[in-house]
Amino acid sequence: MPAKLLKEVEGEVTQLLSDLIKINTTNPPGNETEAARFLAENLSRDGFDCEIFESAPGRGSLVTRVKGSEEKPSLLLLSHLDVVAANAEEWSVDPFGGVVKDGFVWGRGALDMKGMTAVEVMVLKLLKRNNVKLKGDVLLAATADEERGGVSGVDYLLRRYPEKIHAPYVLNEGGGSAISTGRRNLYVVQTAEKGLVWFKVKAKGVPGHGSMPDAADNAILRMSKVIERLGGYHAPVTLVPAVARFLRALAEEDTALQEPLSRLLANPKSSVQVLDELSEVATSLREEIEPRLKMTVAPTMVRGGVKENIIPSECETVFDCRILPGQTVDQALTLLKGLLSDIDQDRLTFEVLQAQEPSESPVETPLYNVISRVLGEFDPGCGVAPMLMTGGTDSRFFRKTGSVCYGFFPRLPGAPYERIITTEHGIDERVSVENLVFGTSVLYETVRKLMS
Ligand SMILES: [Zn+2]
Repeated sequence: MPAKLLKEVEGEVTQLLSDLIKINTTNPPGNETEAARFLAENLSRDGFDCEIFESAPGRGSLVTRVKGSEEKPSLLLLSHLDVVAANAEEWSVDPFGGVVKDGFVWGRGALDMKGMTAVEVMVLKLLKRNNVKLKGDVLLAATADEERGGVSGVDYLLRRYPEKIHAPYVLNEGGGSAISTGRRNLYVVQTAEKGLVWFKVKAKGVPGHGSMPDAADNAILRMSKVIERLGGYHAPVTLVPAVARFLRALAEEDTALQEPLSRLLANPKSSVQVLDELSEVATSLREEIEPRLKMTVAPTMVRGGVKENIIPSECETVFDCRILPGQTVDQALTLLKGLLSDIDQDRLTFEVLQAQEPSESPVETPLYNVISRVLGEFDPGCGVAPMLMTGGTDSRFFRKTGSVCYGFFPRLPGAPYERIITTEHGIDERVSVENLVFGTSVLYETVRKLMS
């Protein structure tokens, strides 16, 4: 029989999330202090002493902990309080109304990631209410500025107050959802994330009149070669360990996937054909898997020209490049510049706007083992696999300090092979009340088993 869900927290965790969504923490400007104060007040009713650290006025992060006996390493439950912007006109409900209807809590941040904040706060309260004897400290941090790079949030806290926030184990966003397959549910734990390089290429030319194109040297035409070269680049397939494990688990789930995925695992070079076959099983599968097999480059902004009849002397394009664990920012830049070596080098400049190295945590850890065990108790027979995330989270700051970090917000699956990341940052972002209860139950049991 599956483990019992904590149905009794349903009302409380739902209300908590609804209240959090009502505090508009769109970043920029963030205004996370208001949400941090709300949580501090809420937690104080259960006897918690919270501290709020502001990196700048209004940019507050909340930290608190339940003390343990120091026989085990501590665990941090991490979340961020800021959200991305929402255009109310596109939504079917007020994105900051905290609406609860049809079994869902609706609003910006429901998934990314106030839903997990509410679940983590609930877990902390339950540890205290149930008087769980902890062998290590359980920390909670709800931080500012994740959506704009974390410099005013986790990065600031780790630099200024490491003793308040650092822990050898960290649970954060980015994983925990289940993929419904042919046979059972496969839960993914985010153990790694890609790195990024945002860079700008500027092409120079000689200006002229639009009516006499041959007398000019059109920077837009030069840039079009750059865009084609970089945007059309197919990086070689590299199977990193987390992805190989994920694909092996997926192959076990569905007989239709077994044969093509085994071929891919045995010979990564066969990926093009295998991905074509996978898209026949489900389009989303190809879209999910392909960027996890290689470095990607995408042009995201283009600017050039000022007037209809002037051939511009400058055109610039911003590219978003994502690199796999094991690759470095420097390697990527050398490779990308090399791709442009035959396009008038002296007329191109290259500027790095932002760079983050990839990060990963080992999979063979007590925390991962407990997660697998607990998921098996709540969803007997389910699969559990590590997952490489194509985007980035605050986990990378902790991984740099040596902490084991996993993205794990436990959620039941939607439709078969539905996207792993669905309405995060999207219109009508929402989380089901059922998943708030499931998430609280699984996370509570994970923390209890690991720490007591
Ligand atoms: Zn997030």
